[in-house]
Amino acid sequence: MTTKTCPDCKIELTRIKLFGRGWENPLTRGAIDADLSFYTDAEAERSLLSGMFKPQGMLESYLCQSCGRIFLFAMQEK
Ligand SMILES: [Zn+2]
Repeated sequence: MTTKTCPDCKIELTRIKLFGRGWENPLTRGAIDADLSFYTDAEAERSLLSGMFKPQGMLESYLCQSCGRIFLFAMQEK
């Protein structure tokens, strides 16, 4: 894996995981979390059968610990 650095701070980025949280039950505080790890075309539409998008690829997420910016990269094929 190649090291990624912040273009402004010039320090190494920290790999992070982004996720979305669904509706939270007010009694149990439970919710469903989903990784945000795919991307597709901006004009992509959901499948009529499954209701799902067809992914174009996967994401890698990084955080700059200095400026707080989050960077998203298309995952490189290995
Ligand atoms: Zn930075």
